[in-house]
Amino acid sequence: QGIQLHGVLKENLQATISEINQCLLTTLGACGDVNRNVMCCPAPLYQNGVREQMQQFANAIAEHLAPRTGAYHEIWLNGENVNGRKKREREPIYGKVYLPRKFKVGISLPEDNCVDVYTQDLGFVAIVENGEIQGFNVLCGGGSGMTHGNKATFPCLGKPVCFIPADRVVPTAEAVVKLFRDHGDRSNRKHARLKYVMDEWGVAKFRRELKGYMGHPLKRPVKVEINGYETHVGAHEQGDGSWFYGVSVESGRIKDEGDFRLRTALREIVQQWSPMIRLTPNQDILFCDLPKKAITAIRKTLKGHGVPLSEKLTPLRQLSMSCPAIPTCGLAITESERALPGIIDDLEAGMKRLGLKSEEIAVRMTGCPNGCARPYQSDIGIVGRSGDKYTLFLGGNVIGDRLNQQFLDLVPREQIVPTLVVLLKHFKKNRKSGEGFGDFCDRVGQKELHALLE
Ligand code: SF4
Repeated sequence: QGIQLHGVLKENLQATISEINQCLLTTLGACGDVNRNVMCCPAPLYQNGVREQMQQFANAIAEHLAPRTGAYHEIWLNGENVNGRKKREREPIYGKVYLPRKFKVGISLPEDNCVDVYTQDLGFVAIVENGEIQGFNVLCGGGSGMTHGNKATFPCLGKPVCFIPADRVVPTAEAVVKLFRDHGDRSNRKHARLKYVMDEWGVAKFRRELKGYMGHPLKRPVKVEINGYETHVGAHEQGDGSWFYGVSVESGRIKDEGDFRLRTALREIVQQWSPMIRLTPNQDILFCDLPKKAITAIRKTLKGHGVPLSEKLTPLRQLSMSCPAIPTCGLAITESERALPGIIDDLEAGMKRLGLKSEEIAVRMTGCPNGCARPYQSDIGIVGRSGDKYTLFLGGNVIGDRLNQQFLDLVPREQIVPTLVVLLKHFKKNRKSGEGFGDFCDRVGQKELHALLE
């Protein structure tokens, strides 16, 4: 993941970069026109080795698509190169001018789409038979960003393009990146994503062009449906004798505030158990490779610092997600990370009154339409519009295989929950058995929902 360093860099650039590297993290290409992060389910579930294999593929893709430039390790202060200039390497994949814009990759399982594979420029959905990965469905052209009032920009779901055997993952990633390198829009950065290539070409032409980069005919994608999404919070057996415990981090913010001392609790857990730490695409933390006795101790530590146990949180809170927005992100129009917990408090209370406390509803909020918290596939998307007003999207779902639709624009923040509660009452009364809120909104349509508000 890209790490924002703007303020810190001014203070202590050399030490910061050095410390990040010592932690085995990197900011290489963090905001560059290259492949960015490769996401994969982080849960250490070793029962059949499938997730381990997926994680190995993710590492191989990340390594293969990393820029070769030595410039990352050059440090310049006051016009002087202070750590010795590295020889410039050739960029075998990106060439001289890199990509038209950023590129993202995700690997998922049909039963656990925790990486939101449809939002990625390039997605791999593992096809598993008898506990073995047989290969992957390749999805191309997903992406979240849009610009308010610019109809030429829109979120897209990745489209199934082909099936590949497992040993073709890395060459396939390279082929799709090269296709984007050569055919992405280099004249307009707002239009420079693979999703617009896919939108303009359609899947048939995309397949024909990709075949040229792959060097062989493409197999049709396997029929498979995404049908699950896991947050991985709470205690789980890893399958190798160890356990992991997932801590829900609301809005991704680790802090001590009054009696709620999450930061202190996490520090104590790390100091006591030295666990392997993994971060999830839902902004949560997994403490891994623990003995069973650590689970009870970790729960005690969390409770002792006023941190509610993640597995006891409502699904609404567990699934909620926001981007950093104000004050961390320079592109933010509105609040998000600091606003969502309050919205969830009120919505949770409203749902409790309606008897919907256990309902799985994904609410995602961002401070601008760039969509960093992936709001356009969720049941409820709240996207910063202006001042303290938001655009409300409805009709996606938890598993992230359908785009939601704009429902209301310029909604004042204090009106968001009262509006949703009206719709939830209607949902409670008229839903079909087992139907989720987003599915309901999608089925009944906006006309019926707007009539309720009138
Ligand atoms: Fe910043 Fe907008 Fe992304 Fe939020 S969605 S982190 S405000 S760019």
